[in-house]
Amino acid sequence: MAPPLTIAIDGPAAAGKGTLARRLAAHFNLPYLDTGLLYRAVGRRVLDHGGDPADPAQAAQAARALTPADLTRDDLRTQAVDRAASAVAGQAAVRAALLDFQRQFARTQGAVLDGRDIGTVVLPDATAKLFVTASLAARAERRWRERGAVLGALAQVTADLAARDAEDAARTIAPLRPAADAVTLDTTALDAEAAFQAALALVAAAIGARASPS
Ligand code: C5P
Repeated sequence: MAPPLTIAIDGPAAAGKGTLARRLAAHFNLPYLDTGLLYRAVGRRVLDHGGDPADPAQAAQAARALTPADLTRDDLRTQAVDRAASAVAGQAAVRAALLDFQRQFARTQGAVLDGRDIGTVVLPDATAKLFVTASLAARAERRWRERGAVLGALAQVTADLAARDAEDAARTIAPLRPAADAVTLDTTALDAEAAFQAALALVAAAIGARASPS
């Protein structure tokens, strides 16, 4: 039997991965997992305990204690949690604690997962791999519009995004980078609908290639 359909969406922060992943999941009738939420929830737990997200023992303990309810909290998208998530995500024990859950999520019915290392580490055999990106200016403006009132000035949002991307790309474990067999989709000049149509065409091509390998 053919393995279930799995779609890996990676890319830097605020590139539009979540919107695309959600729409692709609805289109193909697949479950969707925003893996960034896992790292956010781990960072949140450490902060709740007054801890330091950069401390490996505290971060690993929080990752092992994670429950499904942690992922439904409404305070996972603050600036403090952005930073805490990036800090815990650089630690091997945290990533190891979260890996199985992500793989199991996709195993039976297939799934769409978005994150930073889905195509490279979590689902290296995914049916389709997209690396979704956009210019820093476009991403910062989108994030600022989303969270403007809370996050403050556009310049600060731009600086925070650039710092987080640099941290995610520079870490030694599961750094942010496209898988060798990923297709890059630059959404800088695309609205949500055009980005979705482009992503759909790329995924359809990958499914076709799997069905009739050359
Ligand atoms: O995607 P989101 O911005 O919510 O992710 C928050 C942080 O979690 C990222 O900055 C990154 O450090 C980390 N992350 C990761 N691997 C993933 C998903 C997110 O390292 N697969």
